[in-house]
Amino acid sequence: MRKLIIAGNWKMYKTIGETIELANALKRQLYDLGSETVDIVICPPFTSLSEAAEVVIESNIALGAQDMYWQEEGAFTGEVSAPMLKDAGVKYVIIGHSERRQFFSETNDSVNKKVKAALNHGLIPIMCVGESLKDREAGLTFKVLEDHVTGGLKDLGPEQVEKIIIAYEPVWAIGTGKTATPAQAQEAHKFIRDLVIKLYNKQTGELLRIQYGGSVKPENTKELMGQPDVDGALVGGASLKADSFSSIVKSSSEVKK
Ligand code: PEP
Repeated sequence: MRKLIIAGNWKMYKTIGETIELANALKRQLYDLGSETVDIVICPPFTSLSEAAEVVIESNIALGAQDMYWQEEGAFTGEVSAPMLKDAGVKYVIIGHSERRQFFSETNDSVNKKVKAALNHGLIPIMCVGESLKDREAGLTFKVLEDHVTGGLKDLGPEQVEKIIIAYEPVWAIGTGKTATPAQAQEAHKFIRDLVIKLYNKQTGELLRIQYGGSVKPENTKELMGQPDVDGALVGGASLKADSFSSIVKSSSEVKK
């Protein structure tokens, strides 16, 4: 049985003060949720990671970052490394989000380097994959998924892949209010799991947690999380308010599979 994992991607929102306020509100609203039911992660911007870490320390909420660079240190102006994230109290790191692929030239190759560096430093990568609307309409969804998954996982061993989270995020559903139907999400998740089974083995594929992301809200959480191969959610817009994110987490914790 795979434990659900709900992560909030705060993107480029929230100052330090706003981060402290939101993280405290989430802590209050979610404190009684047993950690055996669902993993909860928040991913604030780099500038407020340390303060967020202080708020969530010893709580059932873990901290994630939204990106990292694969080198440990050096003359890489503007970049942040895995050891720096660890030092700030980070446990998870989103890698290859479609906004990074679209606006910051992220490729499967850079995603792969970042995933490896994250694992080497004990961070858990949340590796994002997903097709655009154009890809879907051209019937290329599975081809794109295969390309993102095989490219991102290149040269990784099964024991490394078992630690990773993959987030299936159809680009057409991110921030658009359009959600993949539960059947569309299940179909893509099953494809990814079967691919990992083919590339590695059955155990690795069955241990791998695959989140769905794309306009997840309190109203559609239960149905999406109820799908057999959907193991959680990566939430953008609805993670910016304590009530909606808490409600997504609570609904997920009630899903029976
Ligand atoms: C995301 O940014 O990963 C995301 C899924 O955003 P939203 O929930 O707003 O669609």
